Amino acid sequence: MKYNPVQNYINGAFVDAATDRTLEVISPVDGTRLSTVPMSEAGDLDRAVRAAQAAFPAWSRTTLKERVQVFFRYKALLEKNLTELALLVQEENGKTYEEAVAEIEKGAELSEFACSLPQIVTGEILEVSRGVECRTERVPLGVVASIVPFNFPSMVPNWTIPNAIALGNCMIIKPSEKVPLSVGRLAELLQEAGLPNGVFNIVHGDSEVVNAICDHPDIEAVSFVGSTKIAKLVYQRATSHFKRCLALGGAKNHLIVLPDAIPGMTAQNITASMAGCAGQRCMAASAMVAVGPVDHIIEKLCEEAQKVVPGKNLGAVINRSSKERIERYITEAEEQGAKVLLDGRNPRVEGKEKGTYVGPTVIDYVRPDMAIAQEELFGPVISIMRTNTVDEALAIENANPYGNAAAVFTQNGGMARYVMDRASAGMVGVNVGVPVPREPFSFGGWNESRFGVGDITGKSSIEFWTKLKKTTTKWNPEAGINWMS
Ligand code: NAD
Repeated sequence: MKYNPVQNYINGAFVDAATDRTLEVISPVDGTRLSTVPMSEAGDLDRAVRAAQAAFPAWSRTTLKERVQVFFRYKALLEKNLTELALLVQEENGKTYEEAVAEIEKGAELSEFACSLPQIVTGEILEVSRGVECRTERVPLGVVASIVPFNFPSMVPNWTIPNAIALGNCMIIKPSEKVPLSVGRLAELLQEAGLPNGVFNIVHGDSEVVNAICDHPDIEAVSFVGSTKIAKLVYQRATSHFKRCLALGGAKNHLIVLPDAIPGMTAQNITASMAGCAGQRCMAASAMVAVGPVDHIIEKLCEEAQKVVPGKNLGAVINRSSKERIERYITEAEEQGAKVLLDGRNPRVEGKEKGTYVGPTVIDYVRPDMAIAQEELFGPVISIMRTNTVDEALAIENANPYGNAAAVFTQNGGMARYVMDRASAGMVGVNVGVPVPREPFSFGGWNESRFGVGDITGKSSIEFWTKLKKTTTKWNPEAGINWMS
């Protein structure tokens, strides 16, 4: 094992879970055994909740301006330790070093947004009658939980950590058991940045911990990021215990390509979207809807996609079962009549034979009724469906149950607007293949890509992590004595 066994982090200390049940952490890069991760029990979670509860009164009573000082320092520490943090993400997740660097940088940007919260979360005050004022202020919820997936071991935790904690909450995070290492380093950096013990805690594990989070009477709110199947389970279970819940799910993102799109730029964008992070992004392009005569763009797309080489500028997918599942979809589509233009099945990656790689794959003449057109693959694969009109393309996009992202490639502003207005997705791109909104804008999909109200980052997240207190005051003797008294 390359690293010591992973431990929980409770009240500012790394501690063993009260369980012997562990899973191995295997690097997708080359199959190296990295560590083991404990499958904690409800009792471990309870210890973390107690620590967070104990820390809450003091933390929530500091001012927002004081609390964000931690995140100024945390941001600087993310930047200072960039290389080491990126190498860890690369090792446990399998993405390329450059992609891992971008992930850490994005974490720093998320922290930067948290640092701006005092400029945004100012409350309101109005004299509603002579001498009578109403004021509103946002106050923290208490102990909150964040359950995160494998595909961004550092960035997705940073979607929730800075905002939730800067707004005065104490947090328990449940990392993905596939990539448990990075969050431990984030805990160390938060401590170095001056975060008091108990404000941030980590409990590792699987469904047992997730269920315990949903059921725990002293956790006020649960955010979840992962697949739609589990997002639904978590949303139902957490809200059945009257918790606030925001659960982000999977995706099937459609890129609509019109014949007037700029071929080179479009091909580069689609390639980056389908193959970036080995297609393991909830914003990845998974389906291209080709409207009319766009063969010249598809040709360019194949040229671009060929430049993406597994083990070089294309990382691994998370594990063997994921690789096999992705390759099964390709084989099944081929058997059903689709044409594989670029075949990424079983690539040879010299020196990394035990890594789990899938090469870039472009499949043409996919029909909307095929599984590959409907389901989330989470691999570097793009399925091309052919249509004659934009309305047919939109019908395909609208029919898919997800709604994370959609994009249109065209030089015609009117057509771009037409698609923007009709795409059934929370995040839309015009000539942008990965339309992730940057702070202060917020991140969140629609339909089966998100359950609950609001988005997980940016301004929208402020509402999720706080509750509104409304105070009416009457000090002035000028105020009529009958004012609601
Ligand atoms: P996942 O749903 O398998 O796991 C997510 C979390 O849920 C993990 O912490 C995991 O331990 C836990 N979990 C797994 N099975 C569970 C069960 N039966 N009961 C309770 N908890 C369970 O997701 P993943 O494979 O880690 O991540 C990939 C998925 O996440 C993809 O579907 C991707 O689209 C999605 N994702 C979505 C967004 C978004 O913003 N919408 C962002 C990133 C990833």
